[in-house]
Amino acid sequence: MPIRIAIIGYGKIARDQHLPSIRADDRFELVAVSTRSGDPGVGVPCFADNARMFEELRGRLDAVAICTPPIVRHVIARAALEAGLHVMLEKPPAATLGEVEDLDRIAHACGRTLFAAWHSQQAAAVPAAAALLAGRKVAGLEISWREDVRKWHPGQEWIWAPGGFGVFDPGINALSIATRILPEPLFVREATLLVPANKQSPIAAHLAFSEPGFTAEMDWRHATSEEWTIRIRTGDGAMVELRDGGARLLVAGVEQAVESRGEYPGLYDRFATLITARESEVDREPLRIVADAFLVGRRETVQAFE
Ligand code: NAP
Repeated sequence: MPIRIAIIGYGKIARDQHLPSIRADDRFELVAVSTRSGDPGVGVPCFADNARMFEELRGRLDAVAICTPPIVRHVIARAALEAGLHVMLEKPPAATLGEVEDLDRIAHACGRTLFAAWHSQQAAAVPAAAALLAGRKVAGLEISWREDVRKWHPGQEWIWAPGGFGVFDPGINALSIATRILPEPLFVREATLLVPANKQSPIAAHLAFSEPGFTAEMDWRHATSEEWTIRIRTGDGAMVELRDGGARLLVAGVEQAVESRGEYPGLYDRFATLITARESEVDREPLRIVADAFLVGRRETVQAFE
């Protein structure tokens, strides 16, 4: 029998990625959507209230994919786990590390699968880059994650609010790749956070990691094309470069053949595997780095964002 799943929060990522990925995977059956915005017309019952959905579908719902902003995710995920459901969390898994710990504990207590989904870890170049770097000394890391916030997050006011992550919303994707492929743990020494005068969250950030020459630049004021690049120099002089958010791999400037089934199909494959194995996967590393950047970060106020 397929895993009967509901989507909670029907915004951009639910529409663009979760719906088609669920529909394309025989191991899942979409049985409901929970949204505050009215029936999206995708041919399944629509609920305006999660508690009501859990109650009405009792015994007919196995799992949920929570696609809301992170600030409201813990409360929703906790209720879903306590209703006996397996839970996939969009990235970042929650607004704080404490919330993630709490959900992990509850999932264990309820015997349900909790999956903190990091879509960029499913990008095509990630397994090959991890294999290339395994057991090698890394001498340099340069993350450049620049895009236009107006293009990628139009009208998303939550992203600027406390717990909205600001530029770390896309930047954490880079960190999810870096922490997956680097052979040594990554941690922050210094950070500068550029915060618009009228917002709570940064529009740009510079991070300096544990070693000299290990840096990340994240910037939402990049009006031309996006740059989502990670460059790694190994101790023996090799240059490993992931471009286009991890879709492409270059070694010493030479393009390598990599392939992936697609980031979100990969996530649903992993979710089905975890549910079948009665396991959870809750990678906290990318969130830990962002939390540390906020802890040590020097804040600079920049021009208001209109
Ligand atoms: P979005 O378009 O703003 O959608 C979020 C949805 O969550 C809203 O449409 C709303 O759906 C629901 N929601 C529930 N409580 C909310 C609240 N307090 N404030 C605002 N919305 C609330 O955002 P999104 O781009 O889909 O991003 C959602 C999550 O997916 C984020 O964590 C983001 O990092 C992640 N993500 C986004 C992308 C992307 O390209 N956009 C890519 C990968 C991951 P209802 O009206 O249906 O309740």
